[in-house]
Amino acid sequence: MSIQSSAGGIPVVILKEGAQQTKGRDAQKNNITAAKLIAEIVHSSLGPRGMDKMLVDSLGDVTITNDGATILKEIDVQHPAAKMLVEISKATDNEVGDGTTSAVVLAGSLLENAESLILQDVHPTIIVDGYRKAAQKAVELLEKIADKVSATDKDALERIARTSMQTKLVRRDSANLAEMIVKSVIAVAEKKDDGQYLVDIDDIKVEKKAGGSIKDCAIIKGIVLDKEIVHSGMPKRIDHAKIALVNNALEIDKTEFDAKINITNPQQMKSFLDEEQKMIKNMVDKVIASGANVLFCQKGIDDMAQHYLAKAGILTVRRIKESDMTKLAKATGARIISNFDDLFEKDLGSAESVEERKVETDRWVFVEGCKHPKAVTLLLRGGSQRVVDEVERSVHDALMVVKDVMEKPLIVAGGGAPETYAATKLREWAKTLEGREQLAVEKFADSLEVIPITLAENAGMDPIDTLASLRSKQLKGNKWTGIDVMKGQVSSMHASDIFEPLSVKIQIITCATEAASMILRIDDVIATAKSAG
Ligand code: ADP
Repeated sequence: MSIQSSAGGIPVVILKEGAQQTKGRDAQKNNITAAKLIAEIVHSSLGPRGMDKMLVDSLGDVTITNDGATILKEIDVQHPAAKMLVEISKATDNEVGDGTTSAVVLAGSLLENAESLILQDVHPTIIVDGYRKAAQKAVELLEKIADKVSATDKDALERIARTSMQTKLVRRDSANLAEMIVKSVIAVAEKKDDGQYLVDIDDIKVEKKAGGSIKDCAIIKGIVLDKEIVHSGMPKRIDHAKIALVNNALEIDKTEFDAKINITNPQQMKSFLDEEQKMIKNMVDKVIASGANVLFCQKGIDDMAQHYLAKAGILTVRRIKESDMTKLAKATGARIISNFDDLFEKDLGSAESVEERKVETDRWVFVEGCKHPKAVTLLLRGGSQRVVDEVERSVHDALMVVKDVMEKPLIVAGGGAPETYAATKLREWAKTLEGREQLAVEKFADSLEVIPITLAENAGMDPIDTLASLRSKQLKGNKWTGIDVMKGQVSSMHASDIFEPLSVKIQIITCATEAASMILRIDDVIATAKSAG
């Protein structure tokens, strides 16, 4: 029970029994420490020379990754301030796809530097104000130095995708993958009236299959279904496919209540079965009458129906995912129908071919040459399930950065170049500010440099020497100078081909600043005994 005294000395009970309260400096210190610990976890995985993490869940399932968002998603974080950092990695992942590790590392550094200011008696509100101003200024500075590219410049888009994959397991195959990724994003991109592009990466179907190697990843102009044809008597390939899409079962519905039918002679049994057969036949006849030679069904298909469909030479696949049905509808121009009575020729979609092919031990159905050219599937391969899972995560990030640049075609260098540039300029700007805010802006600049420092550290380079060399080259006005960690030297990022979307850099700065500010403004942590509700 927490008892507070009023002015008149009368005790007033505010908090329930069992509630815990941490106030002032202690609360701040606690929160900052927790958030810094989270940043420390992902710190060593930043950059191409960063290490991977092995995450083991309660069931013993193992995930190996260096993707910041995945690492933090998998670990069960308890502390509320630490949870805020996990949230910024999620937000960054959703917004721009890449930069999740950088956002958390930057937020951790902002908090560490704020702590030293608090110890010098600078009030947290002044730090927060200084940080916010500095973040805005940093964004403006980066916007000024960003290069404009054409939204459909394949070369520039491939560079962006390659840089994103540099830090991942797929690095060796990044050239090949980048080409496929750019092709697929361009395929699904839609041009708006104002000339800008809009990309929904959910329009790109990603199928993964363990086996082979990352080199075997492929792009398919069409839709790939991880399902096989239902009956061995059906054709394995149909050219000039006319496709029916049905989201209902081709089976006789079971009644919801238990019914007992008394059958007294074999004739009655036969007519009962005949009736069922007739109903199934009826549904199949509707498919045949529509002129379809391919049937994709979202639900189950009765054995008898399979037999009739095979006899009619209709290639049939069942239990297709709802999301795949939507993609098939979009790609082939077919209308998804629920009732077989409503199936007519006008509802059918088309594709040049539908074919079942062997993928490792499975058989999958490939729908190619679709009416709508925007249908694409990325078929991801890799030596084991864990490898394919990591390939999928890396491909997702690369798809997102390409989307970012198509939607906002501005790019900056990577390798810590923009962060060092902004830090140098912010320090100059800080001198023009009055009062303690100046200190906060300077600390913000120091925090930005955690990115080049960490990149160097993780690559086994000397962080102090590297930063000194980087700063001096940047001061000479060379804004593209960064750290090429693969070569272990400070050099031009243009020459090393390391580029990133401006939108990722902006997202990292804004959301790390937001999270750090929120944590700094807390001076009271009250944990109630029971959760609300
Ligand atoms: P994030 O989750 O933040 O994207 P990464 O581990 O993918 O974290 O690392 C991204 C950082 O690595 C970016 O700052 C990027 O510029 C940098 N980077 C990528 N490739 C290279 C390279 N070859 N040399 C130096 N830095 C690189």
